[in-house]
Amino acid sequence: MASATKRPKKRSANIAIVRRDDCTGCEACIVFCPVDCIDLIEAPENPAEKYVLIDKETCIGCVLCARYCPWDSIDMVVREPFEQRAELVFM
Ligand code: SF4
Ligand code: SF4
Repeated sequence: MASATKRPKKRSANIAIVRRDDCTGCEACIVFCPVDCIDLIEAPENPAEKYVLIDKETCIGCVLCARYCPWDSIDMVVREPFEQRAELVFM
């Protein structure tokens, strides 16, 4: 029997990013994310301040987090130009 060739997973065209300054750490987005790619983080400079980070490799761009964020602190962006800008920033 021929073995199926494993194809690389197709990545979504869009991803969610959080505007940290607007995030209250309420965790509503975490509940809605179907792929569990949102983590609650404590600010290193102040552990009482919490916000979320989204794993852009796992995000499928479903928009649920952005739709249900009560503080409107999540933006959907086109993945490739965002990653190119991020590379320029983080190099
Ligand atoms: S867009 Fe969807 S997959 Fe991506 S972080 Fe938001 S809820 Fe999760
Ligand atoms: S729902 Fe909005 S405010 Fe609440 S943790 Fe997520 S991004 Fe932050």
